[in-house]
Amino acid sequence: MEIIKNIPEMRGVLKKHRRNDQVIGFVPTMGYFHEGHLSLMDIARQKSDIVVVSLFVNPTQFGPDEDLDRYPRDIERDESLAEERGVNYIFYPDADEMYPPNFCTYVKNTELSNLLCGATRENHFRGVTTIVSKLFNIINPDLAVFGQKDHQQAIIIKRMVADLNFPVEIVLGDIIREEDGLAKSSRNVYLNEEEREQAPIIYQALTEAKKLVEKGERSAGDIKKFIYEKIDSVEHSDIEYVEIVEDTMLKSVRKIKPGCFAAVAVWFGETRLIDNVILL
Ligand code: AMP
Repeated sequence: MEIIKNIPEMRGVLKKHRRNDQVIGFVPTMGYFHEGHLSLMDIARQKSDIVVVSLFVNPTQFGPDEDLDRYPRDIERDESLAEERGVNYIFYPDADEMYPPNFCTYVKNTELSNLLCGATRENHFRGVTTIVSKLFNIINPDLAVFGQKDHQQAIIIKRMVADLNFPVEIVLGDIIREEDGLAKSSRNVYLNEEEREQAPIIYQALTEAKKLVEKGERSAGDIKKFIYEKIDSVEHSDIEYVEIVEDTMLKSVRKIKPGCFAAVAVWFGETRLIDNVILL
């Protein structure tokens, strides 16, 4: 496995593989790997000849009061985990490489970026679509793997790829969870002991809601209320949103239909957790 820090070198090595007709699979990440990231690398490994993982804590997707500076980092650990999973290249640029002076061109989805997580994280999805576009232009992968954990992000990326004709297949990986159901996240390390104990209420609420839908409940309002009250019942939770939306334009629904999912963002102390479940 090679670690590559600059754009021309990354382009250069991949040119050689492309000339040999090798399929290039790509997994964009912000590092501090957990089983969620590694499962995406496994999918890329299965579907491609060459696996490229990018590791870049992207400043443009963080708001001014967010956790950019304290975002957890451990490149040495990440390096050995990626190598174990058969990754060929880690693209590990620094911020100046990706955002040189006078950078001022962004990619933004005008319809989906202000919904759900975008309602409070103003430029977050603009930062995501911009960095993913840049990475697609540098790596030029045949396929790219994203996690269902960030369901809104996955939908926005799919929309962007269709709307802007990126020649890349988007593949989604299932949400990987801790034993108690908490979705794995690099940010889980911020939780204190009490918050960590209570955080699995999110997944409990979502799975119980899904069971109600399986039993025939179709009122989005009632399901939303159920999820809200369940999560709200623990002391340290502070709910940012609970929404039930369809999976194309993220429109709120009144009646639960196939493809609808429940998405939540909940604060536990200083830590913002997101999760979702497909209801039908
Ligand atoms: P991040 O490093 O948090 O930007 O995440 C990089 C990729 O890993 C994104 O496509 C995420 O959706 C995905 N991911 C993060 N957490 C999980 C998880 N628990 N299960 C599956 N994929 C995940």
